[in-house]
Amino acid sequence: MSVNVIDGRQLAEHLVEEMAEEVKARTAQGYQTPGLAVVLVGENPASAIYVRNKIRTAEKAGLHCVVIKLDASCSQQALDEVVIELNERDDIDGILVQLPLPAHLSEERIINLISPEKDVDGFHPMNVGRLSTGQATLVPCTPLGCLEILKREIGDLSGMHAVVIGRSNIVGKPMASLLLQANCTVSVVHSKSVDAASLCRQADILVVAVGVPELVDRHLVKPGAVVLDVGINAIEQDGKRKLVGDVNFADVADICQAITPVPGGIGPMTIACLIKNTLAAAKQRGVKQPVV
Ligand code: NAP
Repeated sequence: MSVNVIDGRQLAEHLVEEMAEEVKARTAQGYQTPGLAVVLVGENPASAIYVRNKIRTAEKAGLHCVVIKLDASCSQQALDEVVIELNERDDIDGILVQLPLPAHLSEERIINLISPEKDVDGFHPMNVGRLSTGQATLVPCTPLGCLEILKREIGDLSGMHAVVIGRSNIVGKPMASLLLQANCTVSVVHSKSVDAASLCRQADILVVAVGVPELVDRHLVKPGAVVLDVGINAIEQDGKRKLVGDVNFADVADICQAITPVPGGIGPMTIACLIKNTLAAAKQRGVKQPVV
């Protein structure tokens, strides 16, 4: 079977270009430029890179961007106040607090504090509830990016067996909800699953979000499956640092219908979907430019 490697970078670039056109058209109609605020607490190097990439892409799409950096030792109250102010700002449509937070700060509290209408990460319980009851809402960016890829790659997903490995709140669970809504038969496996391998081998669609480098080899993949590798793991190889996914790409690629690489697969689509959510939030809020 020839290898169909899904180019997430190219897909994401295409999406961002489309959204840039939409942003231009909206501002020409008198709406304010969609605004995204990103809050970064501390000096976690991976978080700093993620935030830089998100802002770079948001600027390409023509969004108004605000980055707020807080010291790693900032108090819960200081962080709360920043979020409350962003909730009230008219020029901000989307708020993202980069996770993980330093251990003394409560992620749950912050997720609950962000106004659901500006929750472009889709983590607020109100948005989680809306997603699981099938209502229109802001959906977590990574599973949204996965669904976008699946729709482009496969089209109608009805009746397909999708297996999601991992049940986190940010990837596994919302992914399962989206696949159910797309009429798949969905299995979710996790670290306590018994005989996960036989379920995985039945999957037409296999989404892997575990955080274990190259866990999935060809013995877990049905020939002809579409495999989406969400994992991002930094490993040392021959004295060099490199990024690998949760799927052993070299072992699996030739038996798949299509597969996402790491890097260059789900990562760029996640960022493109952050822009998509910010635009959706801006449309929902519908704030016009101030009349001068
Ligand atoms: P997480 O919160 O640590 O969840 C990992 C899940 O994997 C848990 O549900 C865990 O099961 C399950 N698991 C662990 N070992 C397993 C095993 N041997 N077999 C089956 N299931 C197992 O991780 P996450 O936040 O979902 O992230 C997963 C990966 O995706 C990480 O590498 C992360 O960096 C990456 N990620 C990438 C993007 C992107 O933009 N590409 C976005 C988000 C995350 P239990 O629940 O039983 O513990």
